[in-house]
Amino acid sequence: MQAINYRGPFRIRVEDKPIPEIQHPRDAIVQVTRACICGSDLHLYHGMVPDTRVGTTFGHEFIGIVQEVGTEVHNLGVGDSVLVPFNIACGQCVFCKQGLFAYCHESNAMSSTVGGVFGYSHIAGGFDGGQAEYVRVPYADIGPTVIPDGMNEEDALLLTDVLPTGYYAAEMGGIKKGDTVVVFGAGPVGIMAARCAWLFGAGRVIVIDHLEYRLDFVRKYAPCEAYNFKSIEDPVLFIKRQTDWLGADVCIDAVGSDACGNMMQTLTGKKLLLQAGAATALHWAINSVKKGGIVSIVGVYGPTDNLIPIGNAVNKGITIRAGQTSVKRLLPRLIEHVQQGILSPREIITHRFALEDAADAYHIFSSKLDDCIKPVLVPSA
Ligand code: NAD
Ligand code: ZN
Repeated sequence: MQAINYRGPFRIRVEDKPIPEIQHPRDAIVQVTRACICGSDLHLYHGMVPDTRVGTTFGHEFIGIVQEVGTEVHNLGVGDSVLVPFNIACGQCVFCKQGLFAYCHESNAMSSTVGGVFGYSHIAGGFDGGQAEYVRVPYADIGPTVIPDGMNEEDALLLTDVLPTGYYAAEMGGIKKGDTVVVFGAGPVGIMAARCAWLFGAGRVIVIDHLEYRLDFVRKYAPCEAYNFKSIEDPVLFIKRQTDWLGADVCIDAVGSDACGNMMQTLTGKKLLLQAGAATALHWAINSVKKGGIVSIVGVYGPTDNLIPIGNAVNKGITIRAGQTSVKRLLPRLIEHVQQGILSPREIITHRFALEDAADAYHIFSSKLDDCIKPVLVPSA
């Protein structure tokens, strides 16, 4: 089969790999019909995620058709169209039982931080992902969800990560009626977070980014106010001015590692600069939230970003919440929202590429070329 193959930072090739086989009675094999590239994949692509091995197939946002099921998978049948949450979760461990599927202990028992994730390096279990013609889905009786009749397949695709993550960011923000919510990052996750903030009763939603085409999009899609941080003197001061000097009630970090910038600095060997440039959006979030406010972090950070303005966080008495999204917990209500037309996530898809053109797709998405917001890879049937 064709699958993307990581060859090192900024190098993706589409190559032949063996079709995966059932390895455990709870596995399924899914033929992928569509797979997204995510901002999280860019951290891998930029070489920022430890233990990302050459030969890994990325891809944690995919839908497809069940080809084969193990003997212990009774809730899926061959031919079912499924959306597959990015978390690999056993459904039975102490974390899964609480709905914390992102922290499944069984799927990635070697890690004390994260559960298994498709195509997300050996720190997330070393599973191959779905940017391929076929993928092995472990614990297939838990994650994969049959796509409801009548649901657009690209809406279903965005239910595997991006919509639930935007929703989770807003949920963690503990937004109360009338709150001012600031979202840092107008990528797919930030766009969804801004849209979902209204569902929780926000009174005002402000998005900060520097890519004009994304700001234009989110202004209409969310809809919200959106500002370019390169055109405002200082984002923290700007938000204070906008909020009668109180600060925002809730700040959401939908940026994570500024991986591309950091990578360039690594390549030129300027390690100190690399530290100084890290986690800008998170600094802004902590410094522009009001005293006693909430900072909700869904942006993913690598080891070089373990520095935050902790003194300011203590002095302001703020709450910091953070996490990987447990997609399965949120699916029932989000499927309903999509079916009722309250949310239409597929509208953020700007590009569709044949799987064999994945290297171009990564380059365009990473470099933010051609007004790209969300790219989808389509394997040939
Ligand atoms: P993306 O790269 O498409 O978007 C990031 C956006 O942030 C870009 O538009 C960029 O211009 C903007 N940006 C960069 N620096 C900024 C700054 N200082 N202030 C404001 N904006 C800034 O990525 P995405 O797909 O939207 O994902 C966003 C983040 O969410 C990534 O870190 C990704 O790994 C993470 N993520 C987390 C989860 C989770 O479960 N927690 C799930 C999916 C994605
Ligand atoms: Zn993702």
